[in-house]
Amino acid sequence: MAGTRVGVLGGTFDPIHHGHLAAASEVCASLGLDRVLLVPTAAQPFKEPDGPAHAEHRLAMCRLAVAHDPRLDVSTVDIDRGGTTFTVDTLEDLRAQQPDAELYFIAGADALARLSEWRDADRLLALARFVAVTRPGHAMSPSSGAYAVVEAPALDVSSTDVRRRVGEGRPIRYLVPHAVADYIQEHDLYIGGTDD
Ligand code: ATP
Ligand code: MG
Repeated sequence: MAGTRVGVLGGTFDPIHHGHLAAASEVCASLGLDRVLLVPTAAQPFKEPDGPAHAEHRLAMCRLAVAHDPRLDVSTVDIDRGGTTFTVDTLEDLRAQQPDAELYFIAGADALARLSEWRDADRLLALARFVAVTRPGHAMSPSSGAYAVVEAPALDVSSTDVRRRVGEGRPIRYLVPHAVADYIQEHDLYIGGTDD
């Protein structure tokens, strides 16, 4: 649809947590976007090849997490393409699917700080407007060059912490949506601890 403004939040989502969802929701409201797509990676260049949970699990948890919010959706472009995920490919594929949409690529302060390491950084900036979102414990680079900086509710949650908690038998309720906590339990995810 012409003029649709679409946010894009890429990540490993291993698993998705309330920090991701609050950031996506805040950017959506604050920039008046029509919707925000969560795009789980196939594999992440700066991480272990597929992390502790397989792509199908990470995707299923993302879908459960957005099921009740019409503003949030999940895209499988990265998982469908396979291989190592580079954001430039994500944006190219989304643009091909939605040629008239304006794309807003959302990155937390920690991810944005590594922008210069990303493949084809210049091309990225031609494909989408970059939106930086604050994250507790990570300073926002003043020279990020972002189109907008959005202050998200400060939820100091990370997937690493969620995985570690599961491995240690500590609670994750209220850090992740209930359906995600149930899914992790049902599928015995992260039980063996993590390598982080
Ligand atoms: P891990 O600990 O495995 O690295 P993570 O919690 O950092 O997981 P990612 O999937 O790596 O989650 O992050 C995807 C995107 O969401 C990144 O741009 C990241 O900066 C952002 N993000 C993650 N958690 C938060 C949070 N609590 N607040 C704001 N942004 C976040
Ligand atoms: Mg991360």
